[in-house]
Amino acid sequence: MNPPKPILNYINNTWHESAAVNLLDVTNPATGEVLTQVPLSSADEVHQAATAAASALDEWRRTPPVQRIQYLFKLKNLLEENLDNIAQTITMECGKTLAEAKGEMRRAIENVEVACGIPTLMQGTNLEDIAAGIDEFMIRQPVGVCAVIAPFNFPGMITFWFLPYAIACGNTYIVKPSEKVPLTMQKIFQLLEETGLPEGVVNLVNGGQKTVNAILEHPEIRAISFVGSTATAKAIYAKAAANGKRVQCQGGAKNPLIVLPDADPQFTANATADSAFGCAGQRCLAASLAFAVGGARDWFPKAISDIATDRVVGNGLEDGVQMGPVITHQSRKRIEGVIQTGIDTGARVLVDGRYPNISGGENGNFIRPTVLGNLNPQGDIAKTEIFGPVLGLIHVETIDDAIALINSGKYGNMACLFTSSGASARKFRYEAQIGNIGINIGVAAPMAFFPFSGWKDSFFGDLHGQSWDAVDFFTQKKVVVERWN
Ligand code: NAD
Repeated sequence: MNPPKPILNYINNTWHESAAVNLLDVTNPATGEVLTQVPLSSADEVHQAATAAASALDEWRRTPPVQRIQYLFKLKNLLEENLDNIAQTITMECGKTLAEAKGEMRRAIENVEVACGIPTLMQGTNLEDIAAGIDEFMIRQPVGVCAVIAPFNFPGMITFWFLPYAIACGNTYIVKPSEKVPLTMQKIFQLLEETGLPEGVVNLVNGGQKTVNAILEHPEIRAISFVGSTATAKAIYAKAAANGKRVQCQGGAKNPLIVLPDADPQFTANATADSAFGCAGQRCLAASLAFAVGGARDWFPKAISDIATDRVVGNGLEDGVQMGPVITHQSRKRIEGVIQTGIDTGARVLVDGRYPNISGGENGNFIRPTVLGNLNPQGDIAKTEIFGPVLGLIHVETIDDAIALINSGKYGNMACLFTSSGASARKFRYEAQIGNIGINIGVAAPMAFFPFSGWKDSFFGDLHGQSWDAVDFFTQKKVVVERWN
């Protein structure tokens, strides 16, 4: 299953070479090798996809949910059979380790499994005799043509927070992958093609900002799911809403962990390292700040620094590698600059991961895990998303101080607490103004049967991805009041 070259669009069950004259290189971040080129598809190509999806809508919507999910059962099996192959592509274009790429696809498959429950999940409600002899029903119907605009850091998984639910609910769909990592969706769409889904139900359009604008402006596209940085999320939310579309936008993050003195030291340090340095810190649920409370300062900085120093960094395809590169040369430069600004503004470098010597990685975008101590909680570094393997440490005296600082931040994607006290855990869970909470967990990633629940500047909209929220997002409720004399 070799990916087609150059990257193709998939519209109305046919692979199309884009007419775009503008192409971008897609580069392996571990080696610098150009893997392929991605077209920046035009508004006309978006129109072709939207038209195909709109034409498919009526028949697809009339296909009973129990039949619609048969395609998802097939997809689940195809994804299982091809998991290793897809994971290799994710590692090649995105840089994360093979184990991380497989974990990502496992999460994607979970969402397909949950969406297979649509005949139950999509049910409405009813009440007989709302007045004598009159009954009332709420039924759910599909929204129409829907689209996802995805980020680079999970080339496989993120589309699956939305697509399986959308099509299971009777909508038709358009995927716009990140132009930095378009290869994974080429493979996944080959599998969607193998499921035998009818023409126009799922469509793939590659491109960048102009392609997105065409999606946001197209009258046939009724709902938009976006995942990416906060600035883009805000802009897309405003534009899609102004164009009368249903919209959900998941944005950036600055995820804090609190380490209480009664936490298990080694377990806490390991979980923190996996959170801060897993996927080279390029997870929207990556820990970026750690608050060491009271006596935790005596052991936590050394424990996390030791692990950061020992992490094996390299090409994610190689055995034993624990952390890969960041996505682009520009990202690496930006992150190196952030570390320097931290140092210039008073942070203590406990581990400096800049300019590493990675055998075979001379052309890769490598930074090793970095730990900055003594961070100013009000400074830029403590408030800005870094999206790289950099953990900042802040010392505070009480859990209340830590929660207050967390709640003063603008993001609300994830926060975690390490403790052996149930009372502290409850207080934190209750008071933190954050959508995803971890207690003795470093990456509080919601399973597919829960919503992915960011708050504040990490999310714009009402209904999140995954689970019941996805069913609500991809259906519109119709109420029927009925009397038969
Ligand atoms: P990005 O915002 O640069 O790009 C995301 C998508 O938007 C891409 O498909 C891109 O083509 C498109 N895009 C970029 N700029 C645009 C513009 N000006 N107008 C219209 N479209 C535009 O994000 P990224 O760098 O690919 O991903 C990293 C970001 O995503 C991080 O901030 C991370 O925290 C966030 N993220 C959030 C979640 C979450 O669940 N909250 C999950 C994953 C990633």
